[in-house]
Amino acid sequence: MKDETFDITIVGAGPVGLYATYYAGLRDMKTKLIDALPQLGGQLTALYPEKYIYDVAGFPKILAKDLAENLINQALQYEPTVCLNEKIVKLEYLESEKILKLTSENGNTHLSKTVVLTLGIGAFVPRKLDIPDVHKLEGKGIHYIVRDKSIFKGKNILIVGGGDSAVDWALNLEGLAKHITLIHRRDVFKAHEDSLKKLFNSTVEVRTFYELKRVHGDEHVEGATIFDNRNGAETYLDVQHIILSLGFLANLEFIQGWGIELEKNAIKVNSKMETNIPGVYAAGDIVSYLGKLKLISTGFGEAAIAVNSTKNYIDPSSKFFPGHSSDFVPKKIKSG
Ligand SMILES: Cc1cc2nc3c(=O)[nH]c(=O)nc-3n(C[C@H](O)[C@H](O)[C@H](O)COP(=O)(O)OP(=O)(O)OC[C@H]3O[C@@H](n4cnc5c(N)ncnc54)[C@H](O)[C@@H]3O)c2cc1C
Repeated sequence: MKDETFDITIVGAGPVGLYATYYAGLRDMKTKLIDALPQLGGQLTALYPEKYIYDVAGFPKILAKDLAENLINQALQYEPTVCLNEKIVKLEYLESEKILKLTSENGNTHLSKTVVLTLGIGAFVPRKLDIPDVHKLEGKGIHYIVRDKSIFKGKNILIVGGGDSAVDWALNLEGLAKHITLIHRRDVFKAHEDSLKKLFNSTVEVRTFYELKRVHGDEHVEGATIFDNRNGAETYLDVQHIILSLGFLANLEFIQGWGIELEKNAIKVNSKMETNIPGVYAAGDIVSYLGKLKLISTGFGEAAIAVNSTKNYIDPSSKFFPGHSSDFVPKKIKSG
């Protein structure tokens, strides 16, 4: 059977891809949304569902998982085709037919007049520590991602890292956990100034120049040995959980060979979010242009531009400006 050709295929169902999906529906395009993960929401649901976000316009404070749910609800109202568990590994421009062909790892193919790549940081994998006990106890007290805060209630926790994620988790779990120790290998933190101020005024025990040496326990974490990297002095900590917030490795290797122009490990776009391949646009964390900010709010604007560009690409007689959404009657929004 010949693959159906869609007007627009959005690859990556993070906040930006979800918003692009909504916008494609608003512009009456036959839309497909694809993601490598088994669920929608990208980083919001996979990496920090229980954290509050404070800088999305219109929401003074919202849990990442709630923002994802709102975006999903908004995106699905025009009933796009959604394909999960499909990691796209190949993109080709079929010159003779002027369409794009996407191939996923499992061999499925998708045809589309246009493609919007909202791949975020790529197929993300947490940066790991090369300590044998750590591998052994992954999921048994060793965490790279926090999905359920309640497991930390009344427990002693060690957090490793000096970036926003480590500091935010320490602040988020203060009050819920019995005791929190945060270690960082340097005395310079990458976290936001305001979060650091809160951290140093909190009950979290912060130890700089300390690193993790060993993790104790057979079936579950029972303790950790940390060491002072200035003199090697070791300290034993009675902890039941260790959160390793060492950042994520963006795996964009799959993009090599697509013929897409990259800049600083991201896709180079112009002001219409156009890439160098005809019909291929990109938005969100994956893109690079002068002044790019990797934020949800900027990604939303880029998604709207990218989708309106695809509409105009397919039908040059269509207006680039879609009109105001307040003039449209939404198809189906669940009342909540
Ligand atoms: C701990 C933490 C806290 C944060 N806090 C904030 C905050 O307060 N405010 C803010 O604005 N931003 C925050 N961010 C950043 C924000 O989450 C990102 O800017 C946002 O998620 C980017 O959205 P995106 O849709 O571009 O990409 P992502 O959310 O990364 O989604 C990309 C999607 O593409 C999929 N994908 C990738 N490659 C493929 C492939 N080959 N095939 C199919 N699917 C693929 C991935 O599985 C993923 O679902 C935070 C990030 C982290 C980690």
